Amino acid sequence: MKVIVIGAGAAGLMAAGHAAAAGAEVTVLEKNDVPGKKLLITGKGRCNITNTAELQEFIKQIPGNGQFLYSALNQFDNNNLIRFFNGLGLSTKVERGGRVFPVSDRSRDVVDTLVNFCLAHGVEFIYSAPVEEILTENGHVAGVRLKNGREYEGGAVILATGGSSYPATGSTGEGYRMAEKLGHTVTALKPALVPLETAEEWVRDLQGLSLKNVEATAYSQDRKIAGDFGEMLFTHFGVSGPIILTISRSIAGPLEKGREVSITIDLKPALSPEQLDSRVQRDFAKFAKKQFCNSLNDLFPRSLIPVMVSLSGIPGDKPVHQVTREERQRLVSLTKSLTVTVTKLRPLNEAIVTSGGISVKEINPRTMESKIVKGLYPAGEVVDVDGFTGGFNLQAAFSMGYVAGTSAANRQV
Ligand SMILES: Cc1cc2nc3c(=O)[nH]c(=O)nc-3n(C[C@H](O)[C@H](O)[C@H](O)COP(=O)(O)OP(=O)(O)OC[C@H]3O[C@@H](n4cnc5c(N)ncnc54)[C@H](O)[C@@H]3O)c2cc1C
Repeated sequence: MKVIVIGAGAAGLMAAGHAAAAGAEVTVLEKNDVPGKKLLITGKGRCNITNTAELQEFIKQIPGNGQFLYSALNQFDNNNLIRFFNGLGLSTKVERGGRVFPVSDRSRDVVDTLVNFCLAHGVEFIYSAPVEEILTENGHVAGVRLKNGREYEGGAVILATGGSSYPATGSTGEGYRMAEKLGHTVTALKPALVPLETAEEWVRDLQGLSLKNVEATAYSQDRKIAGDFGEMLFTHFGVSGPIILTISRSIAGPLEKGREVSITIDLKPALSPEQLDSRVQRDFAKFAKKQFCNSLNDLFPRSLIPVMVSLSGIPGDKPVHQVTREERQRLVSLTKSLTVTVTKLRPLNEAIVTSGGISVKEINPRTMESKIVKGLYPAGEVVDVDGFTGGFNLQAAFSMGYVAGTSAANRQV
C-alpha cells in the first residue's frame, strides 16, 4: 500500500522525500509538468526558506493558527530545516530580520535539492496528473482519481495542493474542494499578505517608487491596528512591498466591516520631528538661493519631490529663504505622516498566501492525520495556517510536510 502525495510543492516534496526515507513506497502526483512552480517564484526568485526566530517568536509570526504548529515545529523546526538543506549540499545564509536564503540566491537550487532528495529515496513522480478526487472506503483513504479517470491505489494520501493564490503556479484551491467532499470544514478563504488599493490620485504618480527604511502604520477609525518597518512600493493601484503585505493581514477584517482604514507612512522614522526640522533647516540653508521645489533633493527620492511639494501646500516656486516656519513644520509633519486611504485589498489570486483552509480542529497536530478520514494527511497552505513574510510560510509548509510524510510512512511500513 503506497503513500500518495498530491502536489509537488514545498509541503508535498518534503513529505514525499521523508516518507520514502522512512521506508514507504511513494508516488507524487503533480498537475503541472514540472515540480515546485510556486517555490521558484518565492522570495523574488531567491526563496526565503525559513527564519532564525526562536520557537515562541516563530509562532507569533504565524497569526493564522500558529499554535497548531507547536508539535510540527517540535519535530522539524527551522534548525532541522537548515541542517537538512545543508546536509544535502545546499548552503544557506541569514539576512536582515533572520531571513534564511540559499547562498546561491537561487530558488531553483531549493527545488532541485528537494527533488533529488526524493529521487534518491526512490520517490516516483507523475507529472501532468491533476487529481480530481480522493477515494475512501469505510472512512479510510483508498486512493485517488485523476481528472482523466485514472485511479491510483494508496493506503495514505498526503494532500499538499497549496492555497488559492497565484493560480498560474498550480495552486488553484482544488485541495479545499477535495477535503470538503470528504466531510472536512474549510474556513473562509481570504487573501493574506496582499497589496492594497488606495484612493489618492497622487499615489499613481509614484508607481514604481520603492522606499527603504520607512515605517507604515495602519489605522482603523483612528485606532492603530498594525505597523511595520522596512521596504514598501507604490504601484499603479496603490501600495505593496514587504511591510504593506505584513500589515495587510490586519486590515482585511476592519475593511470587511466597512470601517475606514488608512496607512500613515513615516518617511524618516529614525528622526524625531524636532531632529527632522533641524535637518530640513540645514537643507534649506544649503539651498537658500533655490526655489522650494529644488531644495528637497537630499531629503527625498526624485520622483517623490513633486508629490511632497504639492501635498505640503507650499508653492514650489517660492524661494527657500521665504518659506515660513509654519510651512516648514507642515513639511516635517507630512514627512512623518504621509497618509493613504485604503479602499480595498487586491484579490486572492494576488495574495502571497491564503488565509483560511482545512480546519486545524479536524487535524491531529502530532501526526497531521485527518480526524475525519483515516490515512488522509493535509499539509501546507491547504491547511488553515498562515504567517507573515520572512520565511514563516515555507517553514510551516516544510514542517507540516515532514510530519505528514513521516507519519504516513509509519502507518504504511
Ligand atoms: C510570489 C510569492 C512569493 C513567496 N515568497 C515566499 C518566501 O520567500 N518565503 C516563504 O516562506 N513563503 C513565501 N511564499 C509563500 C509560499 O510560497 C507558500 O506558503 C508555499 O509555497 C506553500 O507550500 P505548499 O506546498 O502548501 O503549496 P504550493 O507550493 O503551492 O504547492 C502546491 C502544489 O500542488 C499542486 N496541485 C494543486 N492542485 C493539484 C491537483 N488537483 N492535483 C495535483 N497537483 C495539484 C500545484 O500545482 C503545486 O505544485 C510566497 C508566495 C508567493 C505567491
